[in-house]
Amino acid sequence: MRPTGSGTLKNIVPRVVAVLWLGTAVTAAQAAGADNHRITVVTTFSILADMVEHIGAEQVQVSSLVPPETDAHSFEPRPQDVKTLSQADVLVSNGLGFESWLPGLQQASGFKGDSIVASSQAQLLKAQHTVAPAYPGSRETPVDDHGHDDHLQAGHDHDHGAIDPHAWQDVRNGQQYVQAIARGLSKADPNHASLYQERAQAYTRELEQLDTELRSEFATIPADRRKIITSHDAFGYFARAYGVQFIAVAGLSGRAEVSARSLAGLVDRTRNEHITGIFVESGAGSQMVEQLARETGARVGGKLYADTLARPGQPADSYVGMMHWNASRLLQVMHAANDGTPR
Ligand SMILES: [Zn+2]
Repeated sequence: MRPTGSGTLKNIVPRVVAVLWLGTAVTAAQAAGADNHRITVVTTFSILADMVEHIGAEQVQVSSLVPPETDAHSFEPRPQDVKTLSQADVLVSNGLGFESWLPGLQQASGFKGDSIVASSQAQLLKAQHTVAPAYPGSRETPVDDHGHDDHLQAGHDHDHGAIDPHAWQDVRNGQQYVQAIARGLSKADPNHASLYQERAQAYTRELEQLDTELRSEFATIPADRRKIITSHDAFGYFARAYGVQFIAVAGLSGRAEVSARSLAGLVDRTRNEHITGIFVESGAGSQMVEQLARETGARVGGKLYADTLARPGQPADSYVGMMHWNASRLLQVMHAANDGTPR
């Protein structure tokens, strides 16, 4: 570089700083030439934040709007969330109407960065859920391209439109999420595209192994030992992928009130249909599930994670950890029921 006088330097430095600062305000990823620049990624909920951390590693600064162990459905953005999103380079959301509060937040924040919709390539399932499930074989059910029965269930009010948004509960969809996130990060931060792609490939292989493992473990359980009651209707994809039947006491959002009459109906079903176990969920209402367990004496399997990770340091504090945790809780109850272990 050509030597410059001190007077010139004084003029240049503030200008460079100003340019970098403006870059941050607009889109930091494009403005920053420095290789050690971290792009700021905001995800709507904790499961997506974990995926972004796997793919982005030290190239990204990730935060989740909905904290772990918090209900994403009933989340209400705070003023600090408006600020957080306004300063982000990239926003990663689930889509499919899962984050009903997001459009308002985006508008309030004036967010102009890149948006990644993680579910964009997922294999979707209609939201035909409910309190009254159809068991496999009880009627003609379509078979999806993985060769599994679609558990189409009787209709029930919900607030997500026609598609069940909980697509990540099938690990094959989780792999699609990873690919979508990697593509989005590569576009937002092309300097590090090859790193994102490499990490996404490694992570996808890990998820392929997890998926294979879950399929083979559930396949060892007789079909009539795979009936589970849970609190909100978040496991339709898990049901489709791994052949577990879930009966939810509340709707897709977990907010629906359960009437005394439907509780009485559930009590009868739980007794008559040999429900294997009853689970509560983190971040969703569990009172009804507990009451049902008390009234029927059904085996209570503990807590499942549907829409949120556990707090850091817990076994379910990552996407892989959460899927392992849920599967191991379910399998434990199913094995116990199968072996005739007393409750
Ligand atoms: Zn949910």
